[in-house]
Amino acid sequence: MQKLIFGNWKMNLSAADAVKLAKKTSAFALDASRIKVGVFPSFPALERVAFALKGSAIILGGQDCFWASSGAFTGEISPSQLKESGCTHVLIGHSERRQNFNETDEMVNRKMRAALAAGLTPIMCVGETDNDRRNGQWSNVIAGQTAKGLAGVEVSGGQEIVIAYEPVWAIGTGRACAPEDARKAHALIMNTVIELFAPSVAKNNFRIIYGGSVDAGNIGSYLFQEGIDGALVGGASQRGDAFAAVVAAAQK
Ligand code: PEP
Repeated sequence: MQKLIFGNWKMNLSAADAVKLAKKTSAFALDASRIKVGVFPSFPALERVAFALKGSAIILGGQDCFWASSGAFTGEISPSQLKESGCTHVLIGHSERRQNFNETDEMVNRKMRAALAAGLTPIMCVGETDNDRRNGQWSNVIAGQTAKGLAGVEVSGGQEIVIAYEPVWAIGTGRACAPEDARKAHALIMNTVIELFAPSVAKNNFRIIYGGSVDAGNIGSYLFQEGIDGALVGGASQRGDAFAAVVAAAQK
């Protein structure tokens, strides 16, 4: 199955720079049978990046969405507005949103259901903090975030749900998670999914990817692990040469 390599550009890059990076990304040599690449620019760049990616195989996603489809929610973006801007995917519950904007599991769940109802593929981020790991709570935190985020979610047909295991302490720190620990976390997430959905749905409709200080040097050690279907890449996706190196290494 294709590995997913998704670049989270966060609140970085001017729209013009995002377009330049998108053009570089669309020129990557991709073996479509092995890899699917996506980029997640900030909102004001979406339409221009969508235009730059036209005709390429690169996926476009938003970094967040609100759960209502329209209304008096100043500053928010609906799933249908993301689609209108050319997105097929959306990140939900990134730890930077959970930590800086107090996003709760219940909010993540509402966003998940809204994104799916609009036909977007959500990438739901889960992961423990340093403290959680020190206190032996990592598995409870990950299983809890996964189960609460997916509560009441219905999966139909070929709808895909991606879960990104992103230990908070590994994001942007250069302290990447040991691949064996990531494998264990992915297995736990898959077991949690299996408790909520039919095994065939868990197997066919869910993908689980790792995120946290991924670069060209370590991507191979994650993709090699059973149950790791790709990577969500922050810092190393925000420069053409570094992202190209990650994608090249992912195809080795
Ligand atoms: C992220 O923002 O989701 C992320 C994993 O960032 P980084 O690769 O920089 O750790």
